[in-house]
Amino acid sequence: MQIQSLLFKILIIVIMLVLFVCVSMSNYSHSIRKTVYRMFQKGTLLVLEYQTSDFDTVESNNFELKYTKNDEDIAICVLKMAEEYLIRAEKLLEFRHKKDKVLLVLFEDEKALNKSFGWSGDKSAVGVYWAGSIRLVSPRAWADEDLEDADTEKIEEIFRRNGPLSHELTHFLIDEMTEGNYPRWLTEGLAQYVEEKITGFTLNEPLFVSEDRVYLFSKLNSDFDNKPDQVMAYWQSFEIVRALIKEFGMEKMDELLDELRRGTKFNQAFERTYNIYFCDYEEKFLQEVTLS
Ligand SMILES: [Zn+2]
Repeated sequence: MQIQSLLFKILIIVIMLVLFVCVSMSNYSHSIRKTVYRMFQKGTLLVLEYQTSDFDTVESNNFELKYTKNDEDIAICVLKMAEEYLIRAEKLLEFRHKKDKVLLVLFEDEKALNKSFGWSGDKSAVGVYWAGSIRLVSPRAWADEDLEDADTEKIEEIFRRNGPLSHELTHFLIDEMTEGNYPRWLTEGLAQYVEEKITGFTLNEPLFVSEDRVYLFSKLNSDFDNKPDQVMAYWQSFEIVRALIKEFGMEKMDELLDELRRGTKFNQAFERTYNIYFCDYEEKFLQEVTLS
């Protein structure tokens, strides 16, 4: 056990070093960045596999699901749902997933998910896509109603309707499509676009959409989670993606994602795809949403 713990610590140090190299080389060639990014994903997956080594596992064509005894009754259903949603998300995004099986982990509660990241208790999420794998929280922990005596079908229905699976799966696909080269607002917008089509869920519009409340999209990348108005950050990300798809179609969105995959910086990729400067499109978009 002590050796395992030591190996785990070494792995964490290696990952931190790789991350450091990744950040320091971000201005170097695209191929170096991609290689380092893949190494980082592999390292993160190894750590997650280690952290969940006592979980049960079930596999399908495209997924490996790890779960605890708490959720053994819904594991097969979650796996089938993942396969179904993957097909639907691929169809919407006009893209086929080509890589290895995706690791899904179903944690018993938010605390267990947070612990897998080393987060303190104040962060809260019921689903997270991170570095090639998807972490989910059991619906037993987040459903509005008490599920202690509920039958399996009821729990599955709640997970299908309100669960974060379609949203997180889209993040996974966008990461694969662009090889990690995308602004955060773009993946959040697309995840909500696919989620709405699959589950019907959509965020309410913020109460006040005014010039002094909306964010510039350049401010919604690395700092997305720290923005004080999270509803606004998610809502405007969804709205701009919806506007782009409505105006130019998914084909053009795929062209943009393909341009990003080649390592082109976002503003340049946008200009090449849509023949418009992003700053001009952004200005027009923000004007329209604040006036309406
Ligand atoms: Zn998201």
